[in-house]
Amino acid sequence: MSAALRVAEAPACLYALHMASQKTAAIVLKSTDFGESDCIVHFFTRDFGRLRGIAKGAKRSLKRFIGSLEPLSAVDLRFFEKKTSDLVRVESAALKHQFPGIRADLDKLSEASLLSEIVATATGEREAHRTLFDTLLRALALIDRLPAGQSRIAGVGRLLETRVLSLLGFEPQLLACLQCRKGLEDIARPAFSVLRGGLLCEGCAAGEPQLVPIGVPTLKLLSQGVRADLEILPRFAWTPRANAEASRVLHPFAQAQLGRELRALRFMNALDRDRARRAETR
Ligand SMILES: [Zn+2]
Repeated sequence: MSAALRVAEAPACLYALHMASQKTAAIVLKSTDFGESDCIVHFFTRDFGRLRGIAKGAKRSLKRFIGSLEPLSAVDLRFFEKKTSDLVRVESAALKHQFPGIRADLDKLSEASLLSEIVATATGEREAHRTLFDTLLRALALIDRLPAGQSRIAGVGRLLETRVLSLLGFEPQLLACLQCRKGLEDIARPAFSVLRGGLLCEGCAAGEPQLVPIGVPTLKLLSQGVRADLEILPRFAWTPRANAEASRVLHPFAQAQLGRELRALRFMNALDRDRARRAETR
């Protein structure tokens, strides 16, 4: 078949003559309407890191983009570089996983959104981080198939939060005093320094701002989140107390390290308040 004939048959090929088409696995971080029929979509891609793209006619072309531009969808993305813009042109996004379990459960949705927002906030555009991509994809799959139950979902959520932050270079120091290196077993009342990102013993904690008391069982649980295989995370035994302590430590830590408030945490807190109100009126 001649080149001229191929162009006549498939207008998309016209672009390929001028610009190379790229293909990569991607997770949709955010999608916003743009004009009458287009969408601006933020992706975290396996091979190119974070990318922003314009999906022309996305609101009309249901066949090309059905369900695949929703946040937290995993897709096979095809795009073209645009010489005149940082935005790539999204040619197609074939849906690989929609994670229906996440979309049907607000606790799962809030945990998955938190991981996605941390990745969106902490990664630079066009900086590939394949281990982080693979971890985020596996984390979404894990959250998707967790059985219902707020305590387990939150426990797995804290372990995944620890893992994702660690991969981004923000690993909390959980098993020894940051300052004097005293081991956890020798610290009577451990406290976590939100600003310094780790544990302090009583002696070293004096005068430090933003300290959060935390129990030894919670510290041990969280430290396993950094390295344990993701598949075994749902088996860890979480108590309501450990869950509450882990949230009090990790959420301010994440926001301090990333330098901004995370919207997913506001959503998570609203869910908790709503749950507490319903428990009171029961
Ligand atoms: Zn110390």
